[in-house]
Amino acid sequence: LLAASRARTSTPVWEPPMRAHNASARANATMLMLARNSDINGVVQSVREAEDRFNRAYGYPWVFLNEEPFSEDFKNRVGNLIQGEVYFGQIPHDHWYQPDWIDEQRAAAGRKQLVRQKVIYGGSVSYRNMCRFNSGFFFHHPLLQKYRWYWRVEPDVHFHCDMQHDPFVYMEEHNKTYGFTITMLEFEKTIPTLWPAVREFMDANPQYIAPGNALDYVSYNRGETYNLCHFWSNFEIADLDFWRGEAYRKFFDFLDAKGGFYYERWGDAPVHSIAAALFLPKERIHFFREIGYFHHPFTHCPVERDIWQAGRCSCNPDDSFDYTGYSCMRQWDRALAGLAPEMPNQLPG
Ligand code: GDP
Ligand code: MN
Repeated sequence: LLAASRARTSTPVWEPPMRAHNASARANATMLMLARNSDINGVVQSVREAEDRFNRAYGYPWVFLNEEPFSEDFKNRVGNLIQGEVYFGQIPHDHWYQPDWIDEQRAAAGRKQLVRQKVIYGGSVSYRNMCRFNSGFFFHHPLLQKYRWYWRVEPDVHFHCDMQHDPFVYMEEHNKTYGFTITMLEFEKTIPTLWPAVREFMDANPQYIAPGNALDYVSYNRGETYNLCHFWSNFEIADLDFWRGEAYRKFFDFLDAKGGFYYERWGDAPVHSIAAALFLPKERIHFFREIGYFHHPFTHCPVERDIWQAGRCSCNPDDSFDYTGYSCMRQWDRALAGLAPEMPNQLPG
């Protein structure tokens, strides 16, 4: 009896997932986070959950980027959570700050107008720097050059479920380029001239428009206007080579020259999403339904019972954003199925 109970107590009740100490990562991929030193507590939360729910079993490296040097405290707190390699990088000045050729008077007037209209981050220059960096520069950073795949993580997010598989390997094996968990409507006031610029680019560069693209996901009228649908880019699992490719680089340079990142408040989410929708066959875009995810104020929680159970998901499927008012899942489903787009009867708000 004694031996039996001793044997039992020596077996831990809970065993951590297998660690990838020496095992080589199976895809050429990295976890990626842009953050400020002041974000540290939210960074710790997100990294801890990403490690516990996924990466502890895989050991992919992490890359952290910042326009300022990371503090010793930041590096120490983050490093404490991660088994694998961690890199802390500084963003080159010209990849971050407002370029000299932007008309500051016009930019200031644009900010003032968005503040008056109570648009979130309407008056923020740093937010605009961030959106432009995430649109056109992160994939050029030296620390990312050796990787093909990245998983973008932000401070203060939650990962609700155990990953049962390697999403990078999934992307590679299934010929996917861009992966998302949440899709929704953009605030129109932040991008009034984005679509006209996109149309101008499309007209001048029809060679980049992919056959079998997802135009119907971003437009109800075959491209005449933008329907504001986009993938919420605070979560992305994607192929860096897509952003580094000719079509996207030309697209970004064209948009950047319009100045809309500063004169308006163009977000990286609509810019990435429109590019993915136009330059990729729609099957290359993937909805990660099994990844439970929260970024304030929305949750994606797997509603499929078996997925929810297998992932030990801590979220409530009833809270899932998927088919609620501001979501664009319906538009995505229809576009992927090749069905004609349907404008919602009632626009939210
Ligand atoms: P929101 O998700 O649109 O509300 O914007 P966030 O404040 O979460 O910013 C998006 C991402 O950019 C997060 O990873 C932030 O940590 C990061 N970020 C935002 N502003 C700055 C900044 O000025 N400097 C740095 N280094 N990161 C920033
Ligand atoms: Mn955020």
